[in-house]
Amino acid sequence: MNTAIPQSLSCQRCELRAGCKRVVLGWGSIPAKIIIIGEAPGSEEDTHGFPFIGPAGKLLRDTLSSYSISPDLVYITNAVKCRPKNNTTPRPAHISACKVWLDIELRETNPDLIVALGETATKVLWGMGALSVYRYEKGVGKRGQPLYRAPKLGELRPRDELKYNGIPVIVGYHPSAALQQVRFRAGFLRDIEKVAEFIGVREKRDGNSDRRYTEVLGMDERIEEYRGRDVAIDTEYDQSGNIIWYSYSKVSGEGYVVNRRDNKASRELLDKLIRIARRIKVHSAQADVPPICRFLGINIDDFPYEKIDDTAILGYLLGDKPLSLKSLAENRLGRKVVRLEEILADGDYNLDRVDRNLMINYSGQDADLTISLDQVLQKDINQKSNIKNKENPND
Ligand code: SF4
Repeated sequence: MNTAIPQSLSCQRCELRAGCKRVVLGWGSIPAKIIIIGEAPGSEEDTHGFPFIGPAGKLLRDTLSSYSISPDLVYITNAVKCRPKNNTTPRPAHISACKVWLDIELRETNPDLIVALGETATKVLWGMGALSVYRYEKGVGKRGQPLYRAPKLGELRPRDELKYNGIPVIVGYHPSAALQQVRFRAGFLRDIEKVAEFIGVREKRDGNSDRRYTEVLGMDERIEEYRGRDVAIDTEYDQSGNIIWYSYSKVSGEGYVVNRRDNKASRELLDKLIRIARRIKVHSAQADVPPICRFLGINIDDFPYEKIDDTAILGYLLGDKPLSLKSLAENRLGRKVVRLEEILADGDYNLDRVDRNLMINYSGQDADLTISLDQVLQKDINQKSNIKNKENPND
């Protein structure tokens, strides 16, 4: 572990040096398989002299570790090496002055992968000629020349063909954004997962590895396994109540996820699940049954309500609060859950715009949570009614 640029310690190339305690050098493996570039040091980094050691750095390092990405593979640095006053965003003049050090770090670490976290790192790479294929024309200048703007993080983040000097680039959310706004958290995890996939680490080590959420295309070949079983069904629908995704599960820890795009096959599968299941477990029949009926083209009165168990009602009867699926799961199962707002693209409630893998994990999770919750709540209800029967045998 070392730094690539010790001579930068005495740098005075821009005004930021006057307002901070020290130049915070990049740190890590040289050469490195991965170089991670953030924005600028924060207060902890300025005090101790190492990059990414504050809360955002902890989240980054913990997440890398959870994906089995060894620190021996990584060099971590910032686009700007001195802390801007009051943690403001570095200005273009600072970025441009400090670029000389990033150039050296990129050369010395000779990485197989560059990871740019946040808008500033993205803009720096763009300014260095990377990602130039994505120069967006904004308009025409006074002398008729084309004007360009740097692409936004959200425009580059979904792309996987980005390169800088032939080195692949992954653009992702900064961990401080994931800390400050819950809606960026799942995206940040997905970005680090992409890094793990790039270096060939596919298994996530976080205790969730026993949970499997899988997309089903066409008719599920294992459909007969559901005959006579309890099956949880969960729907994700748009603002008009039309199903976009649904998921099902017969056992805690698994969830199968279906997109409505292949309407015929996905309709047949849902219809068959409902017909062959012994009991249908949902969280809020009031929310799930109308979209299911609409999707299957059946009258809402013809739904087999007699087969339904509703975990929201079970929670209500047991006095649980709040009664949303995620809150109940956190309280009753002690599970860390992903909420919808964490995976929506920039908060836009358009499920078609959500990253496909995120949606599969999210929707699969909901069927898994429903079947898991049902088991716990049914057990509690049975225990309570047994106690009541013993206390009042004539009731
Ligand atoms: S921010 Fe970079 S360029 Fe500016 S003084 Fe610090 S090390 Fe030098």
